[in-house]
Amino acid sequence: MDCLFCAIGRGDIPATVVDQNDDVVAFRDINPEAPVHVLVIPRQHHATIESLTADARLTAELMSMAAKIGASEGTNGHRIVLNTGEHGGQTVHHVHAHVLAGRNLQWPPG
Ligand code: AMP
Ligand code: ZN
Repeated sequence: MDCLFCAIGRGDIPATVVDQNDDVVAFRDINPEAPVHVLVIPRQHHATIESLTADARLTAELMSMAAKIGASEGTNGHRIVLNTGEHGGQTVHHVHAHVLAGRNLQWPPG
């Protein structure tokens, strides 16, 4: 299957990796929307949140990594987002959490 984030997870496509373990990889977004913009992906392909959350342990790994990066890089708070579907603004169909920090993020998002 031709999936960009699977390729990043395998290390076949380079990324600026900030943390990783056997299950998940965290790397900097190529088009950052904030001073801190890190994506956290499972190495295993899951197209949807429903698919990911069927694996409770992997879901916890993903969220734990996102929270760890938010805590370490977001000195004044952070935001964790999972864009889902067309109206949610999802463009890459391999589940990923965005960790955003480093500026005063607006609410609600656009
Ligand atoms: P989403 O719109 O929620 O699906 O998010 C996809 C994100 O992936 C966007 O913020 C893109 O900037 C980011 N992105 C796309 N290609 C790459 C890449 N090769 N390396 C890092 N981030 C990427
Ligand atoms: Zn994938």
